[in-house]
Amino acid sequence: MTRQAMALSETQTADAMLRARAQRVVPGGMWGHLNAARLPEGYPQFFASAEGCRVRDVDGREYIDFMCSWGPVLLGHKHPEVQAAAEAQAALGDCLNGPGEVMVELAEDFVAMVPHADWAMFQKNGGDATTACVTIARAGTGRRKVLVAKGSYHGALPWCSPSVAGVTSEDRAHLLHFEYNDIASLQAAVAEAGKDLAAILVTGFRHDIARDLEMPTREFAAAARAVCDATDAALILDEVRTGLRLDVRGSWEALGVRPDLAAWSKAIANGYALAAITGNDKFREAATKVFVTGSFWCGAVAMAAARTTLRIARETDVPSHIRSMGLRLREGLTSLANQHGIAIRQSGPPQMPLMLFDADPEVKKGRAFCSAALRHGAFFHPVHNMFLSSAHQAADIDAALEAASHGFKAVRALS
Ligand code: PMP
Repeated sequence: MTRQAMALSETQTADAMLRARAQRVVPGGMWGHLNAARLPEGYPQFFASAEGCRVRDVDGREYIDFMCSWGPVLLGHKHPEVQAAAEAQAALGDCLNGPGEVMVELAEDFVAMVPHADWAMFQKNGGDATTACVTIARAGTGRRKVLVAKGSYHGALPWCSPSVAGVTSEDRAHLLHFEYNDIASLQAAVAEAGKDLAAILVTGFRHDIARDLEMPTREFAAAARAVCDATDAALILDEVRTGLRLDVRGSWEALGVRPDLAAWSKAIANGYALAAITGNDKFREAATKVFVTGSFWCGAVAMAAARTTLRIARETDVPSHIRSMGLRLREGLTSLANQHGIAIRQSGPPQMPLMLFDADPEVKKGRAFCSAALRHGAFFHPVHNMFLSSAHQAADIDAALEAASHGFKAVRALS
């Protein structure tokens, strides 16, 4: 095909035509991190359907999915039991004048599953939950300062957005920063907050974009807990990305550290829109006093989906399965990289992996790898942690590794 013919055919894809239409009626064609212009060449903007660990774009191309909708899909797309639970609830009603029985049942499920939880409340997005946790912590302590790790993502609201466009310094007036896993910097921020310390807000592990992922050290987690115990501030664990993938009881359970408040979303309803806060009795009264609500927060369909998702996650030990699939992927990538003589670094928990190339400051290698792997049917991400689901089986991982081998060839061709 001539270059011209190829250019013509690329502008005639369903994806290209939708992008052109979107440019006219959606600012920038798409907002935020989901704008495909930010992704490697060839990545589709628009998707048509998905099932299990496979996602299809609007041009009918199918990919083995390692983004899982950026986290929400834990059990695979369109999981039959979750679908059945959601459909049964939809037949009764979703958005009613108030919550259904399912809200109380789901709160009971969280309280039974999560050791620190004496109560639960529900919202829609992760940012709703992190924001409400901060509000509850401030209401409970009567203080203002919130400590967050530099570079951590907690949502797209003005107080925590990674962009400064449209954000005032007042929006962030009471945030202080520390380095993840650095106890001295945490203590310096605690000292700066003084008597005004309301909370430490921290993610389950360090998953900042475009840098090696880092698990929390036991000492760091214990130090954060000790500070909050000594000052009566709230330890808030942001489980929005990690929730149900590392440990269904909570990501810091294995470290022996329990938060006062935790924010959950993404995976808890296997793709249905839901967020949750779990909290202990110390913050129950504050959670009663604050005014937090939303028109769709009582949606019963997502709650029914969540009940089934939580049950399956518990009963089938989803974290173990996705960990073993993630390890298979990691080992396969290591061996392919070695075969091709390419230096890579893999980090993070295997169930939420990241692969970066050495000496790749502009992510040229990462993008070339992903574009070639995509053409061969695997949807990876060059700089954001990826996600495994329980629908991934060994054969899917092996097929994705075959696609990855084309990615490594493309990287070799760069030099
Ligand atoms: N916290 C963390 C750790 C997240 O990863 C995200 C979403 N990527 C959020 C909060 C915000 O969640 P949402 O986009 O659903 O508001």
